[in-house]
Amino acid sequence: MKKNFYITTPIYYASGRLHIGSSSSTLISDALKRYKKSLGYDTRFMTGLDEHGQKVEKKAASKNLTPKEFTDKLAKNAKDLWAYIDCDYDYFVRTTDENHIKQVQDVFELMLKNDDIYLGSYDGLYCVECETFFSQSEVGEEKLCPECGRPVQNVKEPSYFFRLSKYQDKLLDYINAHPNFIQPEGKKNEVVAFVKQGLQDLSVSRSTFKWGIPIKSDPKHVVYVWVDALFNYLTALNFLNDDKSLYEKYWLNSEVVHVVAKDILRFHAIFWPIFLMSLNIPINFTLFAHNWVLMYGEKMSKSKGNVIFPKTFVERYGVDAFRYYVLREFPVLSDLICTPEDFISRYNTDLVNDFGNLVSRSLSMAEKYFSSSVKRKEIDSEYISDLKNEMNNTIQVFHEDMNSFRVDKALQDINKLVSRTNKLIDETMPWALYKENKMEELEAVIYSLLEAIRVETTLYIPFLVNTTPIIFSSLGVTTGTIKDLVPYETKEFNITKLSSPLFPRENDPKKAIDEIIESMAYELTQEA
Ligand SMILES: [Zn+2]
Repeated sequence: MKKNFYITTPIYYASGRLHIGSSSSTLISDALKRYKKSLGYDTRFMTGLDEHGQKVEKKAASKNLTPKEFTDKLAKNAKDLWAYIDCDYDYFVRTTDENHIKQVQDVFELMLKNDDIYLGSYDGLYCVECETFFSQSEVGEEKLCPECGRPVQNVKEPSYFFRLSKYQDKLLDYINAHPNFIQPEGKKNEVVAFVKQGLQDLSVSRSTFKWGIPIKSDPKHVVYVWVDALFNYLTALNFLNDDKSLYEKYWLNSEVVHVVAKDILRFHAIFWPIFLMSLNIPINFTLFAHNWVLMYGEKMSKSKGNVIFPKTFVERYGVDAFRYYVLREFPVLSDLICTPEDFISRYNTDLVNDFGNLVSRSLSMAEKYFSSSVKRKEIDSEYISDLKNEMNNTIQVFHEDMNSFRVDKALQDINKLVSRTNKLIDETMPWALYKENKMEELEAVIYSLLEAIRVETTLYIPFLVNTTPIIFSSLGVTTGTIKDLVPYETKEFNITKLSSPLFPRENDPKKAIDEIIESMAYELTQEA
């Protein structure tokens, strides 16, 4: 039976342009989807937009647009961006979709019926910009929002509440019984510590603004952010509709992974499983929470004015170089401080010098010494058997790393194999073998180089999405899959030389850095 894999990014909030911060969640989801697909899984990758709330309502009004007109524009921008960096999502959910609205309304009524939601009154210090209530200690004497520094307002309103407190122990039991539920380990510990402090009931409706999903049984209220936003993962599978085939396939009979950044960890690790418990739906997902991409040390959000857009790098170095950088440096355990200097250094070292150069040298030698046709030859060589072992080891650790969301380590695994492959050229000196007319030994060496490149290219499939097909075609082999990858299986390579370098060298990094910074400054002036 075919295995199923469902992976989601958070639905990003429709407040402005998306940048490299949101790109990191989307890129890792795309890479994991491509990995599973290459293993033969039936995959579904979903992303989308969270479009309700007072902030959207206000921002749209300031632009003389209706909220829907405003979010239509942002949804189009998001889709264009994901296409631009080759993120191959299968479905784009919008919280303004009729299908989503209808099911969220049903969710709310079910929760009311289960007595998990009750009507109370909300009294708090509220930041409109951040759409968040804060405690007295958080806002201080000056009553300023700890997130954005704007003044908070005293807000009192009738509100429905969800009984989070009722589920506190049940959630802790679930987390204990499912050690891989929240990854990595450090993030799980944070969640457990937070839950143990005690959960307060959660306000889940608002009556002070209109731009949201009206509650069916009390339309003065709209559903407040979390019940609306989190259920996107299930409404997109039609879980409350008549045709439940997607829900059965990709939730009930599937590996499910939610990728989130650390700022929304708690909502996904606490509210979401509890909401599912309330509706008697299997929790059945793994939560992977990663850290932030920072620019020169500050969290990249537009309100803090420190943002980079993929275009700045993609225009100069191509999509694959951008994908490579973000995933090779992926902020799993600590934040990534992104700088143009590091980007260029990573590009020139890993992609230009190490891998790109290996491919072009090997193809040239195959053409020069064997008129482009290289057959499998196995000889007794310490160097070659060492490389062969390294290929097998690499494949094994690569799977371990991908399955624990360590795309950064998976790329380092491939890089180590690339270095080992380059070393074979130094060890065997093919040009000397040619001079001495040791053609059998030479063919075994060139074959090994090409075979190592084939293995590396296959492992790069989830990452270098434009470059890998070019290399397979240059090697004269069919595009492989990670599932069927066995080293030394190729019988013959029929080489076509590359028409241009895979990764052109950045020869003037200093000038490039200045231009990148200038281009980022320009991008910042562009409206959403
Ligand atoms: Zn604020």
